[in-house]
Amino acid sequence: MTSPAQIPADWDVIVIGGGPAGSTAATTLARAGRRVLVLEKSKFPRFHIGESLLPYNRAIFEELGVWPKISAAGFMVKRGAQFWMGDGTRHTRLDFSNGSFTEFPESIQVERAQFDQILLDHSREAGAEVREQCLVHGHHADAAGVSVSFRNAQGAEQTVRAAFLIDASGLCNLTANAASLREYYSGHRKIAIFSHFTKVAMPEGGEKGDILIVRRKNSWFWLIPMAGGKTSVGLVMDRAEFQELGKKPEQVFEEAVRDTRAVADRFKAAEALSAPQVAVDFSYRNKALVSPRAVRVGDAAGFIDPVFSSGVMLAMSSAREGARIVHAALDTGKAITPAMRSYEKRTWKTVGLYWRFIENFYRLHFAQLFFQPVNKHRMVCAINSVLAGRTDLTFAIRWRLHLFFMLAWLNRHVPVAKRIPIG
Ligand SMILES: Cc1cc2nc3c(=O)[nH]c(=O)nc-3n(C[C@H](O)[C@H](O)[C@H](O)COP(=O)(O)OP(=O)(O)OC[C@H]3O[C@@H](n4cnc5c(N)ncnc54)[C@H](O)[C@@H]3O)c2cc1C
Repeated sequence: MTSPAQIPADWDVIVIGGGPAGSTAATTLARAGRRVLVLEKSKFPRFHIGESLLPYNRAIFEELGVWPKISAAGFMVKRGAQFWMGDGTRHTRLDFSNGSFTEFPESIQVERAQFDQILLDHSREAGAEVREQCLVHGHHADAAGVSVSFRNAQGAEQTVRAAFLIDASGLCNLTANAASLREYYSGHRKIAIFSHFTKVAMPEGGEKGDILIVRRKNSWFWLIPMAGGKTSVGLVMDRAEFQELGKKPEQVFEEAVRDTRAVADRFKAAEALSAPQVAVDFSYRNKALVSPRAVRVGDAAGFIDPVFSSGVMLAMSSAREGARIVHAALDTGKAITPAMRSYEKRTWKTVGLYWRFIENFYRLHFAQLFFQPVNKHRMVCAINSVLAGRTDLTFAIRWRLHLFFMLAWLNRHVPVAKRIPIG
């Protein structure tokens, strides 16, 4: 009998999932001359939440050679992010062009069904084989490669083999769940209730396309304008608080809109285009991002929180990096390489950078400073660059960030910023 290790690999790499991370990994590897198979459970185009992108995503689009297609799709241009107090009395605007440290002055906001389709079609054009409606349900790594089992579009069971596996299965977190690697951030068990709307009164003129983040006492809204007059609106709150309310998601959402002046004023003529959807417990990390013959990228490596719109950018940059180390590992014949270990460390470090902002966003002393920004020593420019998606931080950016976080910490004890009510 032939053991799995003796079965020749059909592919160099199998990628599970065809979202932004999976397609980025597939395109990167296919362009490097590798034989790549993408297994995606859905039939594209399919709905996905997460429409607001960061300016630094542009560098990855260009590297993948997909920017001309994205640029031609007519997505909404985003030049800034506005952070509002729920009562509408105060807001602050991050203007991405205001950055001595930011190279990309604008970004886009996308209908994910269309955006993800463009990226996945681009992987096909780059030479990857993409099979949709293929649900992966198992994998097994051995000394020579990895076997992946899935149910195909016709409902038949199949097993394929590759030298390496890239898990880009998003929040399904396939391989890490199988190895019980998922852990949650304490105090960050959240629920998001969201839908697409039309006729939401969003900023016009020079601020057209801005994302609005509206902070309530212990929760927040996103309002993301998209092309065609659509706006994605979502409410994020503690899961426990939601459960205590004992109400249906749509009721909680509607009441929160009514109680939040900064949103209610914009919702006077709003019409929902779809029933509200819910995502729960999306903030988590995995204890390991690599294992023999497998690398986890995108949300399958972990996801933090949507407040600073970093998800797609982090997913695509980890996928690009993950693909590069797999490409190098293929030449060594080894199942796990030192470069794979460094990928893990670097990914955690980058995620940590955003986590620091996210964790603090929910804290009063930080929010008070954040809502009253003073660009002393160009601190706001430094924050701008990170929130635009810059991750290669120079010393000039790093010390300014440290100073800002130190001031926020100090503000807990002595009033560095004026004491304003938050919410
Ligand atoms: C409430 C909420 C709001 C968000 N808002 C934003 C935002 O405004 N901006 C932003 O940048 N990010 C946002 N995000 C995050 C963003 O959506 C993700 O970070 C991004 O989609 C990650 O890309 P990915 O390719 O890793 O995963 P996904 O985009 O989820 O893709 C994973 C793919 O894998 C497929 N798959 C899963 N399991 C299997 C399987 N077993 N077999 C085969 N295929 C499988 C899925 O069908 C899917 O197509 C938000 C997230 C949440 C929860």
